[in-house]
Amino acid sequence: MVPSKPTSTTTSEPTALSPGGSTRTRADRARTERMAVTAIGGGCYDVVTEYDTVYTVDLPEGRCTCPDHQHRRARCKHLRRVAIGVTDGRVPAPGQREDACADCERPVYVDEDEPTPVYCEPCTLDTGRFVRDRERGDLLVVARTTRDRANAVAVPGWDTTVADYPTNRTYPETDVVVEVLYPISRALAPDDLTPSDLTRYAFPRSRLEPLVE
Ligand SMILES: [Zn+2]
Ligand SMILES: [Zn+2]
Repeated sequence: MVPSKPTSTTTSEPTALSPGGSTRTRADRARTERMAVTAIGGGCYDVVTEYDTVYTVDLPEGRCTCPDHQHRRARCKHLRRVAIGVTDGRVPAPGQREDACADCERPVYVDEDEPTPVYCEPCTLDTGRFVRDRERGDLLVVARTTRDRANAVAVPGWDTTVADYPTNRTYPETDVVVEVLYPISRALAPDDLTPSDLTRYAFPRSRLEPLVE
């Protein structure tokens, strides 16, 4: 990634630092100056300054393409700003990327190699949550949300994956698999329970509509 650095902005770059620069000043400017940080993968971030100059920060390596770092090896304001952003949760950490929740479209940070679709914390179906099967309209209870993807989970007794199961084919094949139970009737006495009442069924996440609690 080669940063674009218009020559016109080079001269207008603030030079308020005392010779050698003061640590406090860099820290203050890292917090207060307007900078836009975008994760570009591999632990690197593009930082657009208020002068529209773009520098690239390599956070794990502690490097920046700006002159302050290149010439003085300073822990420049861009490096600091990225570190602050990661700490505050406003920028994905190295190894993570930003994506949009497949349900509510809120931004969510996931591992860089995490397949889509992804879901934010509130849209992750917790154990005990009531959901509706979008295909059949059935009311179901979430047993657990797995980390597995529909195209990687076999349906017991069927020569197919959850993704390839006939009624699941319109849902993303890389959807996470959610295990659900059919609610047990209150009229059923414990002695009347059969193993099939407790059978878990695997669904692709998007087939399940979370019900408002
Ligand atoms: Zn820098
Ligand atoms: Zn969400």
